[in-house]
Order: sequence, then C-alpha cells, then structure tokens
Amino acid sequence: MEKSKILFDKAKKVIPGGVNSPVRACISVKTDPIFIEKGEGPFIYSVDDQKYIDYVLSWGPLILGHLHPQVKQAVESALQKGTSFGAPCELEVELAELIIEALPSVEMVRMVNSGTEATMSALRLARGYTKRDKVIKFIGCYHGHADSFLASAGSGVATLSIPGTPGVPSDTVAHTLLAEYNDLDQVETLFKKHGDNIAAVLVEPVAGNMGTVLPQKGFLEGLRELTHKYGSLLIFDEVITGFRVSYGGAQKYFKIDPDLTCLGKIIGGGLPVGAYGGKKEIMEQVAPCGPIYQAGTLSGNPLAMSAGIATLTQLKKEDYASLEKNTQMLALKLKEILEKKGLPVQVNQIASMFTLFFTENPVINFKSAQKSNQEIFISFYQQMRAGGIYLAPSAFETTFNSFAHTQNEWEFTLKVAEDLKF
Ligand code: PMP
Repeated sequence: MEKSKILFDKAKKVIPGGVNSPVRACISVKTDPIFIEKGEGPFIYSVDDQKYIDYVLSWGPLILGHLHPQVKQAVESALQKGTSFGAPCELEVELAELIIEALPSVEMVRMVNSGTEATMSALRLARGYTKRDKVIKFIGCYHGHADSFLASAGSGVATLSIPGTPGVPSDTVAHTLLAEYNDLDQVETLFKKHGDNIAAVLVEPVAGNMGTVLPQKGFLEGLRELTHKYGSLLIFDEVITGFRVSYGGAQKYFKIDPDLTCLGKIIGGGLPVGAYGGKKEIMEQVAPCGPIYQAGTLSGNPLAMSAGIATLTQLKKEDYASLEKNTQMLALKLKEILEKKGLPVQVNQIASMFTLFFTENPVINFKSAQKSNQEIFISFYQQMRAGGIYLAPSAFETTFNSFAHTQNEWEFTLKVAEDLKF
C-alpha cells in the first residue's frame, strides 16, 4: 500500500478528498483507497503490484472484464481517425441502432456523456412533454447527482449518510416526491394527492444503489398501471441494469414497457457515455426536432461509441443464463460460508449482480438495507481486500460479476471468504 498511500496524500492536496467520486475514498470502510495501475480481464493491479479479482468493474460498465480484446481493438482503430468531431459520425448511428434493437421500449435514443446527464435530461423531457413539474423517486435509489435527485438518494449519498445536499435549492427538491421502494400504496397516495402535476415516476427497475434490491412481484407492473392512469411517464433508470440484467435490460427481463429509459455504464464499454431513449412521440420533443433543449460538445464521441458498439456486439454472443447461474452459485456459497461463521446474512441476487447484507431480515427497501451491520461489513470488506478480492467499499453497493470471470476466480473468492475471522 506504500505507493497508494503516497499518491493518496498527494491527491488530497489537489482533489477534494483525494478522489473524483466520493465513495472511492473508502471512508465508510475505514481504510484508504488502492490506486490502480491497470486492469486485465477479471483482474486489477495496484500501483503496489498487488493483484485483485475485481467485482467492482468500474461500478458496472465492464461486464466483459477489463481491456476486452474486441473493445480495445475498436477504440484503437477509432483513435486512428480522430478523438472528437462535434459533428455527426456513423458510429453514433450504429450504437443507436444496437440499443433500439435490444430494448423493446426504445424507438429513438439520444447519446449523452454520463448516467447523470441521461436521468437529468429524461426528467426534463418528461416535464416538458407532460407540462408537469413533479417526479416520484424512491428512497435509496440513485440517479446521478443532478439537483432533483439528491433527496434521500442511494450510492455515495447513502454511504456517507448525506440526507440531501447543500447547494440544492429547497424549491427544486420540493418537486421530488419520495416513496419507499416496493411500496405501491405510498406511490398511489402520492398520485391521489398530486396526480395532475406528476410528470414521471423514475425507478431503478432493480435497485443497485442501496445494494441490490429486487422489485417484488407486481411492483413494476403497478407503477406502469398508476402512471398510465394518471397520465405520467414511467422512466426506467437502466444505467446499471441495461445490458446487465439481460441483453434487453430489466424491461425485457420483467416484460414491462416504460415510456423512457436511461442508460449508461455498459453501453460505453468503460468510456464516458450515457443515453436516454424511448417512445418516438416523446423523443421527438427533444431539440432540434422539438422545443426541449439538451446538448453536448462531446456527445456521440467516436471513441466512446466504438467501445459501446464493440461491447454490445460481443454481448450478443455471450451466455447470460450461464453467468446468472454462476453468480447465484457464488452468492449463495458466500452466504453459506459466512453463516457458518455465525453471521446473519441476506443475499439479494439477480443476473450478474448481488449484495450480501449482514442482517437477519429480508432486504426489500432502503430501510431494511440500512439494518445491515456496518461493523461486520467493514471487517468483511477489509479482510476480503487483504485477501485479493476487490469489492465496492460500501455496504450499499452492488457486487458485479462478468463474462471474464471464471470458475478459478470464483473458487479463489470462496477460499478467501473461508479464511475470514470475525
Ligand atoms: N443511475 C444509476 C442507476 C446509477 O447507478 C448511476 C451511477 N452509479 C447513475 C444513474 C449516474 O451515472 P453516472 O455516475 O455515470 O453519472
């Protein structure tokens, strides 16, 4: 950790907290971050020459692992032609076509540069289209750091216990209505009270930012019905779940037809990309087709587009069912090992994402996720990392598996877990 420590000390002098995104600072797990030198397949290597099995995968994008040969080659070949044009290029059309072909509800899509931009722009579009102001979001869901979503958010906001954030005007978040995840009654109550001014319900169809929390049977269907009934839009934030829960995202997995979808992470293959898309009638309200403004100097960037195209093209050939089976095996075996050590463990898993919660009771929303024992998690995290297993440094994040991981990595992970002491 010597070089990492030196770099972190240097970083803290020039970057707030030494990091460019808060959870990376490892504050809640009471340790310092590892500085990464390189990644390859399922592994990352630190500047201190330590090798780790990576279950963070850049927080989800790298479902093919680090530096997948096809992705590397695509970016290298795009690079030969220039890094940015600020004008249309063929790669943008190709990636848009791949997305539309994959996601049942998406008829048109606009590229942006991050998940935050995707959700922020989708909400603006929903507001402009419906001519309403309010949005329902779920406690513990994270939709990036745009003002409207920083009310009881998940991810770093949950990790650092920040209820809201200074700098967001109260009249902005006054338009953000909150409900507990998986609680349709609360959503219905909000609709009864504010129905004619609710532009949209925004939801992670599988929550990934309070740890992994699955939608209970009927929850997503209920949101679809209520939004239809009250003339609001249903927005799926598939920044994590898109091309992860299945190639067609959570909407295909659960067979729900949202009006708008936000994407990010996997569609950029590890480069900075986001996108929002949906029904043509709604998307055509975006400028220059329609009056709702949204733009970006680097949007549709050729390097990012080429990484996205290569990733999706490769994913079409991958066996999602087998990755799901192996992830379930890994998650259940981890649970078994930790339970044998006398720990209370809940595991929530779907496709290649899961979270272990150190609590007796099922985790179905943020309230129950918060019951996860932090002290146990910190010890678990620190010991796993010392054993060469790189997990998200927060109890409220998702563990990501990839097509690059093999039986060898999963078995090694279980072996490290066997040796933990509590
Ligand atoms: N939505 C979801 C569901 C996310 O998980 C994230 C990021 N973790 C975002 C939006 C924001 O994406 P970005 O960090 O690329 O701005």
